[in-house]
Amino acid sequence: MRKKIVAGNWKMNTTVAAGKELAKNIVAALDQVPKDVQLIIAPPFTHLATVADVIKGSVVALSAQNCADKAKGAYTGEVSAEMIAGTGCTYTILGHSERRQYYGETSETLVAKMALALENGLSPIYCVGEMLSEREAGNHFNVIKAQLEEVLFGLTAEQMAKVVIAYEPVWAIGTGVTATNEQAQEVHAFIRKTLAAKFGKKLADDVTILYGGSCKPSNAKELFACPDIDGGLIGGASLKAEDFIAIARSY
Ligand code: PEP
Repeated sequence: MRKKIVAGNWKMNTTVAAGKELAKNIVAALDQVPKDVQLIIAPPFTHLATVADVIKGSVVALSAQNCADKAKGAYTGEVSAEMIAGTGCTYTILGHSERRQYYGETSETLVAKMALALENGLSPIYCVGEMLSEREAGNHFNVIKAQLEEVLFGLTAEQMAKVVIAYEPVWAIGTGVTATNEQAQEVHAFIRKTLAAKFGKKLADDVTILYGGSCKPSNAKELFACPDIDGGLIGGASLKAEDFIAIARSY
């Protein structure tokens, strides 16, 4: 059975104090969230230990937004998967389009990050998605297939079972333009089919696939009603506890 997940990617937003407040407000509203929905929050690295304390004992899980592609050592400014796990995180986002676009993240580095995250007990939330030009050229399925094959196909079935996928069309991230339900469902079904061809139908059926890209309280319900959409990776709307909780109530 796949999990229903609503994950908030705070990106490079909030001070530690504001992040603490946001996490507190989310915990305070948990009684409104259906019991079968897993909430995850992904604050900046600097906030993880503090936010871990705030959500302790609640059902909210903690995620990082990235991890280093090396285990440890002379890599100034990097944060290892082991360090992240030590804060209480159980997830980490990997391969977000902003990291691919602005920080030159490649499939090669993502293979290393994926391995280290899994070795350290973190479930990766692996992001895939096409740019607008790739969709307009009708190339989006090829792009997504390559992102899946290059980073996930070297995993064992046991490792793959720990991975959550997020389909985030780059043209929908932070733009206010959401993929239509049909566009999102079509890609989610394609992702599941691609995973089934490699890992078998049972495993693919159990993988949680989130939609991300301008998902908000007003459109989450329709998106989450699609058969292959198991929840959302939420950027902007995860910065307000009220909106984040409203999205989690949209199933
Ligand atoms: C994201 O970047 O993961 C995202 C989905 O952002 P937004 O919801 O702001 O489009």
